Amino acid sequence: MADRPKRRRGARWDRTKAQAFRRDRAAFAPCWICHAPIDYSLPPSSCPDAWEADHYIPVDDHPELEYDLGNIRPSHAHCNRSRQKRAGIDLLGTPSRDWRRRQG
Ligand SMILES: [Zn+2]
Repeated sequence: MADRPKRRRGARWDRTKAQAFRRDRAAFAPCWICHAPIDYSLPPSSCPDAWEADHYIPVDDHPELEYDLGNIRPSHAHCNRSRQKRAGIDLLGTPSRDWRRRQG
């Protein structure tokens, strides 16, 4: 686990992350990806089982949600990193049906 992901975020992200961690720790929130409990005695992102902030909706697609606590879910560091962007994209979805298609 020597490879830390490159983060271009700064103090604002650190504050947001700290807020999310306190919120999730107070609620004993489980990992939203694997649903297993998270050990909140571990410092955030300190090891694969530690809490890590996961953006529910990928900020690559919605940069305005990067600091939105409502978009930050608790996850294990290893779950977060193995998930990448896949699940969020499916959940976010895009209308695949053309509801407004004219008839005839
Ligand atoms: Zn997990």
